Amino acid sequence: MATTATMATSGSARKRLLKEEDMTKVEFETSEEVDVTPTFDTMGLREDLLRGIYAYGFEKPSAIQQRAIKQIIKGRDVIAQSQSGTGKTATFSISVLQCLDIQVRETQALILAPTRELAVQIQKVRWLKTAVSDLQHPSPVLLPVPGFKEQIYDVYRYLPPATQVVLISATLPHEILEMTNKFMTDPIRILVKRDELTLEGIKQFFVAVEREEWKFDTLCDLYDTLTITQAVIFCNTKRKVDWLTEKMREANFTVSSMHGDMPQKERESIMKEFRSGASRVLISTDVWARGLDVPQVSLIINYDLPNNRELYIHRIGRSGRYGRKGVAINFVKNDDIRILRDIEQYYSTQIDEMPMNVADLI
Ligand code: ADP
Repeated sequence: MATTATMATSGSARKRLLKEEDMTKVEFETSEEVDVTPTFDTMGLREDLLRGIYAYGFEKPSAIQQRAIKQIIKGRDVIAQSQSGTGKTATFSISVLQCLDIQVRETQALILAPTRELAVQIQKVRWLKTAVSDLQHPSPVLLPVPGFKEQIYDVYRYLPPATQVVLISATLPHEILEMTNKFMTDPIRILVKRDELTLEGIKQFFVAVEREEWKFDTLCDLYDTLTITQAVIFCNTKRKVDWLTEKMREANFTVSSMHGDMPQKERESIMKEFRSGASRVLISTDVWARGLDVPQVSLIINYDLPNNRELYIHRIGRSGRYGRKGVAINFVKNDDIRILRDIEQYYSTQIDEMPMNVADLI
């Protein structure tokens, strides 16, 4: 796998990857019988696209890729769900590339993403460029769409009625599934069971901090652990991100930070720095919760517990990419324990008290 090869700068990086089968052994609930296509070769992909996929280093399709790509290529409307880091971006990118008529110089596909960073990341997927070398025009147009629901309706109003629609996410809460009736036609559903949503490779812990003021010292104590590889610390507000960044720097810790109020240029340079590994600890809001893929991130800190269950899945899924190991640590005040137990129960997962040797798990 290319990601393994590019990541495997040391033996330990290699060790952090779980078995490849784990990425293909997921149970799905589908609305009808779907073929499972176990290899890229047998998906009926164009020769140049197939070469690009292999050249990028993907050897075998992940569970969601084995099921969804063929359906999308067939022209079906598809609702697909799969855990964070299991190759959803590749699923729709390969499908879009297969469906494009490269002789036509007009926009043929729209890809809507909830944040600018995610849109940019999708655009930069390297094999998108190498796979179809003839694609000089950026045919798939990327639209960053914050404030999602209303804007999806706005965009949809302008599309030809026969447009094929694909919805793909790690979480599909009820209200989103409900809304799909309005703009999808007889969609095929490929969904993972709720209790499979948290990845086995991500160990989840909590630290009982009693009071808000104690969180800061706890974080400082964990700083060495944060820098073992790379870490993202989530706060619930932009002000809190600024405040915590300031306070960490005053205490002589090196941290980066990012949120939606920063100028785009600054956001871009912070992303670049973090992706390159030049900065190792990033403090952010939920602008960083969805879709971003920095394989070296192995630790997530919820300095504040997220405001809903879906965000919890997206946040912790920034670690444990494509079968790698990850650790998520939740700071919980006394009155947060109930929320944590709710998350634990909802996803049938286990969130234990953080052990002393947490660094060994990263
Ligand atoms: P998701 O969108 O489900 O969160 P991504 O599409 O971002 O996941 O993929 C996570 C990581 O796994 C990326 O680094 C991607 O390059 C890699 N990846 C995706 N599909 C495969 C595959 N079939 N084989 C190997 N690596 C893959």
